[in-house]
Amino acid sequence: MTLEATCCCKQISITLSDKPEMNSVCNCTNCKQRTGSAFGISTYFKTNAVLEKSGETKIYKFWHKEQDHEQNRHFCTQCGTTLYWTISTMPNLIGVAGGCFSASEIVEPTHTLNNSNKCQWISFPSNWQVQE
Ligand SMILES: [Zn+2]
Ligand SMILES: [Zn+2]
Repeated sequence: MTLEATCCCKQISITLSDKPEMNSVCNCTNCKQRTGSAFGISTYFKTNAVLEKSGETKIYKFWHKEQDHEQNRHFCTQCGTTLYWTISTMPNLIGVAGGCFSASEIVEPTHTLNNSNKCQWISFPSNWQVQE
C-alpha cells in the first residue's frame, strides 16, 4: 500500500509506504489558522515510511504552545499549502496534513486534541479518544 499527499497546486508531494501510526484532529487556534478550517487533521507516519518527497518546499519553525513542542513545517513555495512537518518531541515520526491525501485515502482519525477549543457546532464520533 502506498499513500500520496499533495499540495493544492500539485508542485509538492510526499509518498508513504505504510499506514499512519497516529491520526488525530487538532482544534487549537493555530491549526485552524494553518488550515483555514475548523480543525487540522494531523496524520503521523514513521519517518522510514517516507518513499519520496518531490517539489520545492520552504520551512518555518512553529512553537506549538498547546502541545509543548516545536514543529518544522514544510510548505509549497507556489501555493503555500503546509504539507508535512517534523516535531521536536517525536523525531521518528513525520506529520502529514490529513486533508492533503486524495479523498478516498483520508483515514478516520482516532483522537481529538485540544478538544476544549473545539467549535461548538462540531461533534466527533464517540469512540474517538478525547484530550481536552
Ligand atoms: Zn503547491
Ligand atoms: Zn493544533
